Amino acid sequence: MTDSDAVNIGEVHNYVDGDWVAPTSGEGQDVVNPATGEALTSVGFSSPEDVDEAVTAGQSAFETWRQAPIEERIQPLFRFKSLLEEHQDELAEALVEEHGKTFKEAKGELRRGIENVEVACGMPRLMQAGHVENAAPQIDETAVRQPLGVFAAITPFNFPGMIPLWFLPYAVASGNAFILKPSERDPITAMKMFELIEQAGFPDGVVQLVNGGVETVNAILEHDGIEGVSFVGSTPVAETIYEKAAANGKRVQAQGGAKNHVVVTETADLEFAAAKAVSSSFACGGERCLANDVIIVEESVYEEFVDLVVAEAESQVVGHGLDEETTIGALITPEHEQRVRDYVETGIEEGAELIVDGRDVEVEGYENGNFLGPCVFRDVTPEMTITREEVFGPILGLTSAADIDEAIEILNKSEFGNAASLFTGSGADAQKFRHRAEAGNLAVNAGTAAPMAFFHFGGQKDSFFGDLHAQSEDVVRFYTDETIYIERWPDA
Ligand code: NAD
Repeated sequence: MTDSDAVNIGEVHNYVDGDWVAPTSGEGQDVVNPATGEALTSVGFSSPEDVDEAVTAGQSAFETWRQAPIEERIQPLFRFKSLLEEHQDELAEALVEEHGKTFKEAKGELRRGIENVEVACGMPRLMQAGHVENAAPQIDETAVRQPLGVFAAITPFNFPGMIPLWFLPYAVASGNAFILKPSERDPITAMKMFELIEQAGFPDGVVQLVNGGVETVNAILEHDGIEGVSFVGSTPVAETIYEKAAANGKRVQAQGGAKNHVVVTETADLEFAAAKAVSSSFACGGERCLANDVIIVEESVYEEFVDLVVAEAESQVVGHGLDEETTIGALITPEHEQRVRDYVETGIEEGAELIVDGRDVEVEGYENGNFLGPCVFRDVTPEMTITREEVFGPILGLTSAADIDEAIEILNKSEFGNAASLFTGSGADAQKFRHRAEAGNLAVNAGTAAPMAFFHFGGQKDSFFGDLHAQSEDVVRFYTDETIYIERWPDA
């Protein structure tokens, strides 16, 4: 086992009740650098007893924490924000080493995470609900948002720095205790962020880290002391988490996978659209729930647009995420790389034409890395496997439609509803798209429909199970209960 300078930690530990402790199940796995194939460290999996210890500490911390003045609860978050900024480069480097994406992408994701800490610092305003005087004769009514206890978040591998921060700052600033279970594939970033949490000065037990895999998740879902669960990951797992958490009487919000479509009309700035749509397809190696998978182009400009996409795709540079010129880093595991390669084969077998073939890519000096170059198919149909299923790799399909109506019809055939983008110069087309496209995050003339932290992160259909989403006011409502306070003073 080798240790990288950027990572430079021992084994990945849990952070429970203010202490760093080793998970005790006896199970675990190596954390492997996807660009080199070398193990960086290893992570142990937490047993149900480890989970119980964290929940008990969280329950005890909650009793005091919920009573702390709200201004006091946000002070550690201000410190956490400064520490994240101070250590952003070091965190980004560790993130690249364990995930494979580029340094710029890693810094970008941390910035989006920090935004959430900033928004959660506004909790004194976000916690406010409503008040109506004279709601009935002599009666005033008030809604009060109150914290509920211990919450847990189970997060995916693809944004190990950002996604935990969709939840953590809001849960704790609203007065709850919080437990994070990060992905076992890249848990180093979370551990490094928790080293900063430790310095930020939260009371013991308020914010905790529990590493592990399926058994750990099941222990979380089955623990009576956990009020609710936030989940982000693949659709089959999201659906299972949603069902199990609900069956165990917990609040649950579960964000799943995606298959995002882009529509390009003949009035769009085609060069701009091609540059934005392609970079959004291949950013983070396509391992993004907001990656563009399918571009639907108005017939009259289809051939011209295909040529622009090919040129953009061919200009991508595949390599180690810490090399400055790299635009597409390594895929998370050799198994995942093979899965994506199998999708390319399926695309060819099902009759799509592969016009950019990145399968033979070689990255000098990193022969054991999980690399795949960009692959572009033309003339895909909505029935094809590569158009229906989430691939999570640098694969892009192109198809044509007669007009905006047909394009929206095609995109709405998807079982997923995470995001969709439109490139157009027509306000009328944009309005149709806004009214009718079935996705939770929509963008016009922007390649990636990624909401800022002061809006919630949308998701519909098989991309989301629940009603209150991550980020901002939605997640504050998820982490609080609105108690209604009815007051009568007959003498008043
Ligand atoms: P995943 O579903 O394999 O794992 C997510 C988490 O669930 C991990 O912490 C993992 O330990 C746990 N897990 C995995 N299998 C489990 C099981 N059978 N039972 C209980 N827990 C289990 O997802 P991933 O591969 O880490 O992440 C990629 C997926 O996440 C993609 O599908 C992507 O679209 C999705 N994603 C969605 C969003 C969104 O906002 N909708 C954001 C990011 C990623």
